[in-house]
Amino acid sequence: MNRILVVEDEKHLAEGLRYNLEAEGYEVRVVETGEAALALLAAPDAACDVVVLDVMLPGKDGFEVISELRRAGQFIPTLMLTARGHPDDILHGFASGADDYLTKPFDLSILIARIRGLLRRREWLLAGLESKPDTPPERDTGAFKFDGKSFDYGKLELHARGQVFPLTLMEANVLRYLIQHEGKPVSRKSMLENVWGLHEDTDTRAIDNFIVRLRRYVEDDPTKPRHLLTVRGVGYRFQSAPA
Ligand code: CA
Repeated sequence: MNRILVVEDEKHLAEGLRYNLEAEGYEVRVVETGEAALALLAAPDAACDVVVLDVMLPGKDGFEVISELRRAGQFIPTLMLTARGHPDDILHGFASGADDYLTKPFDLSILIARIRGLLRRREWLLAGLESKPDTPPERDTGAFKFDGKSFDYGKLELHARGQVFPLTLMEANVLRYLIQHEGKPVSRKSMLENVWGLHEDTDTRAIDNFIVRLRRYVEDDPTKPRHLLTVRGVGYRFQSAPA
């Protein structure tokens, strides 16, 4: 059974989430503060598969919580609940390490679909499935090696310059998607649709934010990218062996 941690201080909403997620067959734990969530997730026996994290919390807000989790090496898939009409919140959430977001007020069926999406993508990554017929097998399972670097999908790690960079689920998914389309320009819209499953009109700047972060791991000099290239007017292109 998949376990979900809900971090939400509005009791009414939190209990509604618990009731509905339990009805979907999930095991649910609710905490009201970011501090409680951090303590719970830091415990060695923290059994949890997905976190639903509200931004507006007493004490530490959702952004601080997700940043702390990622800094501590905790890469559990996390969906943030942000306020509607604040694209900055969404970008801030992604920049802090969130895997997905939903704006309040939201439709429960959408929340459940997003949670399922996060769990499914995590399973795909861990199992190395999701193979596409036109994709060389070494790009789907195990580590993909390029230019003295290595991207391990299963472990969500990038090895470069003698360092190991842990990736969030979404960072790994974005990098994986670009690698699968090596040499071809990939549009921001296509990434949003295929990596996040978002067909709505979403602010595509969120993608740029991911690329900025990925370049810090992948590129020897992030200001002079040689692998994650900008394709003007379109999006991005991956190349494993720089010319
Ligand atoms: Ca709240």
